[in-house]
Parts: sequence; C-alpha cells; structure tokens
Amino acid sequence: MAKRPPSFTNPKGKKRSGWSKKGRKSAHERGYGWAWRKLRAFILRRDKGLCQPCLRNGVTTLAREVDHIIPKEWGGSDDEGNLQSICIDCHKAKTAEEGNTGKAMDHRLASNPMAHPPWLCRSVIPVTIVTGPPGSGKSSYVNDHAGDSDCVICFDQIAANLFKSDGQRVHQMLSGPQVKAVLQERNKAIGRLMTSATNYSKAWIIVSDAQSERRRWWSETLGADVVVMLTPASVCKARITKDEANGERRPGNSEAIVDQWWWNYTPWSGDQVVKPQRKHTRRARTHR
Ligand SMILES: [Zn+2]
Repeated sequence: MAKRPPSFTNPKGKKRSGWSKKGRKSAHERGYGWAWRKLRAFILRRDKGLCQPCLRNGVTTLAREVDHIIPKEWGGSDDEGNLQSICIDCHKAKTAEEGNTGKAMDHRLASNPMAHPPWLCRSVIPVTIVTGPPGSGKSSYVNDHAGDSDCVICFDQIAANLFKSDGQRVHQMLSGPQVKAVLQERNKAIGRLMTSATNYSKAWIIVSDAQSERRRWWSETLGADVVVMLTPASVCKARITKDEANGERRPGNSEAIVDQWWWNYTPWSGDQVVKPQRKHTRRARTHR
C-alpha cells in the first residue's frame, strides 16, 4: 500500500509564523473570517434585514451589521441564537455601552459591570427578580413558585456548581477571580434569556440588591417583575444561626451583611413585597 508523502502529514501541527503580530490577531483568528461572513449573511436574511433592537422598540430600520447579543468578550458565542441584525446607530450605542465601566451607564448604580452588565436587554420570556438580605428566604420563595419548565439563575448555586463547595452559600468565601468567574457564568445564563433560543417558560433570578435604583434597573433592563423579601433582620439572623447549627456553611459575616442590606435598603414603587408568614412570629412570641 502506498504511503502518503510526508509533506501531507498533519499540516495543522505546523505553526504559522509571521502571519500575525503579537497583540493584533488576523480577522480569521478573531473569528471574523470566511465562516463569519457566511453566518453574517445568514443572520441578516433570517432577520429580514431589519435591526432587531429597533424592532423591539417598534421601529423599522434597515440593519447593516450583525451583533453578538452577549458580547464575545463576555463569553458570548457565535450561535445563531446569540446573533442579531442591527443598524449602525444601535450598534454604536451598544458597543459604547459595553465599553462603559458601569459608572457612566448610570452613575447612581456606582456598580461594576459584572454585577449589572450594560449589554443586557429585554428577556424574551417573563423574568422575576427575587432579592433580599441573607436568610430572608429568597431560595425558598423561588422553590415554592418556580415551575418545572422554569429556569432559576442563582449566584450561590452557580458558585456551588463551579467550585464544588459543600454548602450552597459560598459567596463570601470566594476569591476575587472566582467571583468573576461565577458572575460571568451567571451573566451568560441571563444573556440567554434575551435570545429566542431559550426553551424555558419563565426565569427567576436571585440577586441581593437592596437599593431601589438597582431593582429598577433589573426591572427596566430585562422587563422583569421584582420581588423583595422584606424579612426583618432579627428573623434573618435567627435563621442563619439555625442553619449554622444544622451544619450549613455560611460566611462568617452573614449577620453583618443582613444589617448592611437593611441599611442600604430603599423602597421602590415597582416592588412586590413579601413578608414572612405571621405564624412564625406568633410562635416565637409564645416562647418568650
Ligand atoms: Zn437599530
């Protein structure tokens, strides 16, 4: 049997040299080569050449470009579901927002863009944001209300999955880069809600924002309902103590975070407020 000439073996293993300078990759290496041009043409055809962000606002504008809904640098993929046709104005506005540090996006938030990503936009399925201090019962509330076909996006859950911690509440024990990794995963999950590729019927996002403007930001950005667990600090702390007695690992400063949450808390007219059931307080009272 004839052997292939040696020049045909494993061309992939050969290193291309002199093609790209350090720091500046070729269009192909950045993922914008021939395959991208083909995909781009497909997306424009799929969207009938119309700018999708404009369309969401009820405006018909001709699209000139194709945009990654979740930006590539935030972990967004080239999946069809993550691509949309966009007009030049919308693209410029979106790119400018993506480059923001969060401060310029909304100075009142004074937040980092990982916590409140500026590229997020309206979800295609209904979303409920659930917030409250530690021990306020956010997870229980979501467990009670979420259906089988719903998606639950929870920082602690993602952290537990990523870092295989034995407790669910690992938040304060994570290092800076770990927090970043968890937020990136969480943001990708939230970003998927903006694409029509999602198979879920509803989404629940557990956050810990106490300030009214942050809850309003979630609500306006995703078109979400907002539920706030207004569990009194004393009740939260009692639950934390009880959980710890049951062997659950909680960060050591949970109680301080409860106080901090209540200190930062400001009410908002869009809040749907949930307070703990009466029977618990009554029983606590008879014990005194
Ligand atoms: Zn547009």
